[in-house]
Amino acid sequence: MTSPTALAIHGGAGVLGDHDYAAVRAHLAALAEHGRNMLQSGGRAIDVVTAMVEDLEASGLYVAGKGSSPNAAGRYELDAAIMDGETRAAGSVATLTGFVSPIRVARAVMEKTPHVMVAGNGAVNFASLGAFERVESVNDYYVPAAEPDDREFPTGTVGAVALDSQGRLAAATSTGGTLDKLEGRVGDCPIIGSGTWADDQVAISCTGQGEFFMRLAAAKDLAARIEFGGANVTDATRATVDAVGKLGGEGGIIAVGRDGTVVDIFNSPGMKRAVVDTAGEIRVAVD
Ligand code: ASP
Repeated sequence: MTSPTALAIHGGAGVLGDHDYAAVRAHLAALAEHGRNMLQSGGRAIDVVTAMVEDLEASGLYVAGKGSSPNAAGRYELDAAIMDGETRAAGSVATLTGFVSPIRVARAVMEKTPHVMVAGNGAVNFASLGAFERVESVNDYYVPAAEPDDREFPTGTVGAVALDSQGRLAAATSTGGTLDKLEGRVGDCPIIGSGTWADDQVAISCTGQGEFFMRLAAAKDLAARIEFGGANVTDATRATVDAVGKLGGEGGIIAVGRDGTVVDIFNSPGMKRAVVDTAGEIRVAVD
């Protein structure tokens, strides 16, 4: 028996007031359509979320992969995680530098090692063993002007959650982290159960001020509201976003449940996202 399919992708919490998001909207719409086609032709959830996040990373439109901005030491340290809800297999990388697609490396950690998380130089060495595309020069990333100017600083972790036609759920998240983060700082995104989670009930990808999501184990908090509290996906997501807010944090969550409920809830000023419901309808929004 085949199940309905559903998908959500995000390009990060937070939007700048008068910024023109036409390119982001167009990109999210085209990518959501591609993801919908993959799912409707039988694609696996884990492959769909990988493809979605890989494309978001390569676009340079978000603070992930090529669009990443530097940390306080001027270096680019990227985090990413992926989780397969069917098997609970997971892989993540933290403070990875020098590669275009941290999500591809995270997936390799999941599939080719007995580990869940690899960080720092070890992540770079591990990625060097594979055929992963390298960042050729620092100009492949977002390079701020030497002198402060009035350019808008980009915002936007990226993520994807999917339910496939076999009822399998998966989630993936990738980020360059927060603005001016300390060297070595790791956010919520690569921490399984904080920024990324998938089980047989729900797949979750978070974005926002990672420290608050970590202090709540936000993604697992949401999943536990469903598993142990009997909440539905919408109520559980709202409750977790509210809990982040009560701690003082801002951000948003995309989640898809095994019944195909797909939600995008945030308390930040906007969240770049696209949702594909079980009827195949695509909705793109930034605020
Ligand atoms: N959650 C990410 C982090 O704290 C940042 C973001 O979503 O914009 O690294």
